[in-house]
Amino acid sequence: MRQNREFKVRNEVKRHRTAPYVVTAAALIVTVVVFVAVRAALGGGPAAVTANNEDADLPRGGGPDIPAAASPAAPTGRANPYSGEAWFADPDGLLVVVDRKRALAPNYAPTDLVPLTSHGVPARPDTLTARRVIIDDLKEMFAAGKKAGFDYFVFSAYRSYKTQTWLFEYWVKKLGRAEAERSSARAGHSEHQLGTTLDISVEGLTGDVFEVFGASPAGAWLSDNGWRFGFVMSYPEDAEETTGYEHEPWHFRYVGREAAKIVHNRGAIPSVFIRELEELRRGARTAAP
Ligand SMILES: [Zn+2]
Repeated sequence: MRQNREFKVRNEVKRHRTAPYVVTAAALIVTVVVFVAVRAALGGGPAAVTANNEDADLPRGGGPDIPAAASPAAPTGRANPYSGEAWFADPDGLLVVVDRKRALAPNYAPTDLVPLTSHGVPARPDTLTARRVIIDDLKEMFAAGKKAGFDYFVFSAYRSYKTQTWLFEYWVKKLGRAEAERSSARAGHSEHQLGTTLDISVEGLTGDVFEVFGASPAGAWLSDNGWRFGFVMSYPEDAEETTGYEHEPWHFRYVGREAAKIVHNRGAIPSVFIRELEELRRGARTAAP
């Protein structure tokens, strides 16, 4: 099963690489539908809470305990998560580009962060928070996973700019700069700052999650089914050249069901798809009188 999955991912990546960058009229229509659907799915007045510390994303051997000094202040909330840059992505933040080149503003924090466990989502530590907008689909995904025999839980969720600053330096000290750059994100460049991104593991896993989750049946199920609930794997296998990060089979980003379905059907790398959407939006703005 593992090999099949790898083969599939590789094919998807290959397919993506050979796909033309010219966006067709059909894609434009689909994009509009996505934006409308995503916008419609959102709304409602979120309550701000103080964000809490999270675990490390990566490197081998597990993450550090983040000291209180690195814990974030209460979110400020901004319409535009980027600093000093034109804003063409969707204002709800589900389809925001965050990668090695594009950073979020240091003071950007979502305004609808909620504690996962108090919303019935298994999480360790129990102080983890994420955006309210992902909760319902996340619970559905975990419930479906449970039916398939997997007790998933979240082990990292929202991380503030400040936390990420601390975390990146931790990994630099521990692994050296080159290896830290490969696997951990600099502050502002982590999708975890969006509050829509989760690191997921499963109960009963034997071994280091970073080493064994991807090859486990639970990892395979999530990889195959996450999109049905709006979650996509940000860093697929064999896509390091494009994403800038090595394969992270535990790291999922919520983009909403419509967008996730398109990513799945097209075999696209999520960040590439989101950039395409952004270009369309930029074009539409430029063309407007
Ligand atoms: Zn992660």
